Amino acid sequence: MKITFIGAGNMAEAIVAGIIKQNVVEAADVCVTDINEERLDHFTEQYGVGRTTDNAAAVAQADVIVLSVKPQIFPDVWPEIERALKSDALVISIMAGIPSAKIANGKPIRVVRVMPNTPALVGEGAAGIAAGEFAVEADVEIACNLLGAVGVAVVVDEKEIDAVTALSGSGPAYVFYLLESMLEAAEQMGLEKGVSRELALSTVIGAAKLMRESGEEAAGLRAKVTSKGGTTHAAISTLEEHGVKDAVVAALKAAQTRSIELA
Ligand code: NAD
Repeated sequence: MKITFIGAGNMAEAIVAGIIKQNVVEAADVCVTDINEERLDHFTEQYGVGRTTDNAAAVAQADVIVLSVKPQIFPDVWPEIERALKSDALVISIMAGIPSAKIANGKPIRVVRVMPNTPALVGEGAAGIAAGEFAVEADVEIACNLLGAVGVAVVVDEKEIDAVTALSGSGPAYVFYLLESMLEAAEQMGLEKGVSRELALSTVIGAAKLMRESGEEAAGLRAKVTSKGGTTHAAISTLEEHGVKDAVVAALKAAQTRSIELA
């Protein structure tokens, strides 16, 4: 299976690094394209993959094409890619906001749409995978294997992709926002920066790990550490008074609405 990545950017690098490290594919079967020669040099040096600035040539010999350019570049690159596609090629798009039907453009092209997130850069990504109209189960499996090399990959319906975008695509930013707020408070309370950074990061990672490994619900775990009249109770009551839960729900819905508008 020969795979070509159109656009050798950050997200493509995360996936290429993951699939080669995990032996999902051989470096010799991977090709990346970019308009930036430095990016191509970097990929060749780091991962030993093939490279070219010629999108059409790279597509012509590929069984799987991963569209990893920015969505605004898509209309410029797609016509030559479409002309060069092998008749049985699979197109996997990680571009935000472009529906599979827009890529297939009325033709029976097998498209799988993926919504990844940036923790894929450290092998801890969360991706939603959705089959386009003509994609078959084996196509979804290929996308799951690629994204599974850089984190968790979950199959969803394409109509759910906007919700996935709001939850996990944009999700890392909500956690960074929470961390920003916790660290601002820590500074105000006089803790040294290095110390508070370590404690806050381990708290977020540890809480997520505890929830995953215990299989318990978030509300149950929270109740366990919130005794009436205690310190956590004082904090959670303050969050409730400020309507933080409602604000988070509204924030995710705003992201979903924006994702629908952009499509
Ligand atoms: P990036 O800017 O790092 O990479 C895009 C690459 O495409 C660049 O190296 C650029 O030089 C190259 N490029 C530009 N024009 C080209 C052309 N004509 N032919 C070939 N290559 C060309 O972007 P990224 O952060 O890796 O994002 C890539 C895709 O992933 C985007 O479509 C984005 O919507 C999607 N995505 C990103 C995230 C995220 O959090 N970063 C999350 C979900 C989805």
